[in-house]
Amino acid sequence: MSNEYPYASRYGVLRSLPEQGRPREEILAELREMASEEDAFWETGKCSGTMYCGDHEHYGFMNETFGLFAHVNALQRDMCPSQTRFEGEIIAMALDLFHAGAIEGTEPAGLVTSGGTGSIAHAVLAYREHAATSRGVEHPNLIKPETAHPAFDKACHLFGIELRRAPIDPDTTLVDLDWVASHIDEDTIALVGSACNYGYGTTDPIDGLSELARSAGIGLHVDACLGGFILPFGEELGYPVPPFDFRLPGVTSISADTHKYGYAFKGSSTVLFRDKALRNAQYFYLTDWSGGKYCSPGMDGSRSGGLLAATWASLVSLGRSGYRRYAAEIFAAAAAMQEAVASHRELRILGRPTFLFSFTSDLFDIYHVNDFMRQRGWRFNGQQYPNALHMAVTRPQTQKGVVAAFSADLAAAIEYAKEKEAAGTAPSSGAIYGGVAGGMTAEADQFIKMVMADMMDRHQAVPAK
Ligand SMILES: *Cc1c(COP(=O)(O)O)cnc(C)c1O
Repeated sequence: MSNEYPYASRYGVLRSLPEQGRPREEILAELREMASEEDAFWETGKCSGTMYCGDHEHYGFMNETFGLFAHVNALQRDMCPSQTRFEGEIIAMALDLFHAGAIEGTEPAGLVTSGGTGSIAHAVLAYREHAATSRGVEHPNLIKPETAHPAFDKACHLFGIELRRAPIDPDTTLVDLDWVASHIDEDTIALVGSACNYGYGTTDPIDGLSELARSAGIGLHVDACLGGFILPFGEELGYPVPPFDFRLPGVTSISADTHKYGYAFKGSSTVLFRDKALRNAQYFYLTDWSGGKYCSPGMDGSRSGGLLAATWASLVSLGRSGYRRYAAEIFAAAAAMQEAVASHRELRILGRPTFLFSFTSDLFDIYHVNDFMRQRGWRFNGQQYPNALHMAVTRPQTQKGVVAAFSADLAAAIEYAKEKEAAGTAPSSGAIYGGVAGGMTAEADQFIKMVMADMMDRHQAVPAK
């Protein structure tokens, strides 16, 4: 998109609430036009992640289920017992998928949240509160692999928790267990591992973390936001998926996003606890408010019943066999794309990933490849330290012809990258995707603040008359 305010030349710009309402048909026509143009961007199958399902029939079905409950407030359960049913069954299905109840005497439980960040935040808050009441921890710390999602940093920032970032092995991309072991102290509330991580698609040694957590008597949160609804099916299909769920005795909570490979709408995720005591630690109560006794199960207040209905509908309409079938197609496409990458000696895949893979080059800046692939309509996610590109393979890549197009475009991109590198040209996507050269300094922070402010100004400011 250009620097022009979006759609200004076609639809004009609203600067205030219109006095007279517009006809519904006219509004719908305008929205349909924008939606179909924007969908064309990813329907090609050239966009990493984001559109996990990409199936308009599935979206249409979920829209219908959403619409039936969109106007309902899921907070007011006396009026909508349906919401209790949806939420209870979403949690039960997810707990079962991750083998909760594998250990006698525990009472598994969960929450449906608004996304992966929400699930992680609820888990981190639960660990903090539980450690404070059960062990008197006043200055809590949490240990995450450097590769774990920034949602942990955000939660620790919000909740006043010290975050210790464990280094990874640069070849395997997996967390250094010895480092983790030597940084646990009496104020550590929990460890974190990813199944899999967002950057490399690799799964930390959760069994090793589980042992460390057990011997220290602390929690272990497994972030399966990304892999939760696909790795269990990959395991069933015989792919090498290391154990990461409640079958490992030290795993005390798991986050798994229904809005990723659960193929539900954005705005839904699950956080699952091996035992109720942990979930209960983070409830919020205000019993002496003049407006009445207030309590909420999580951080949100009112929420639309539509999301719970549609999430439930996504799970039950596909069933295990549907998820397994989609996983088979995605794992196969991802393996074929990785073969294409591995066939070029100029490129290197990081670690041993499955459905999401990341690659770099030791011969040229990989952002040259990104520049070229962008011209061919590809949209990857960019990484740094080292510069790398990642592709989260989703259903749109399983369409006919997408893997072949990837192979052909990649081969041409390598030639382009070699020429640019030889000419000493800097890649144009580097500054935004690859971060600022020279490491994360105060300057880099300042730069990213400026980028953010500029982006938000453009997103929100209505152009001057
Ligand atoms: C997407 C993701 C998250 C955060 O999820 P949001 O839904 O974007 O809030 C956390 N962890 C991993 C591994 C993810 O891929």
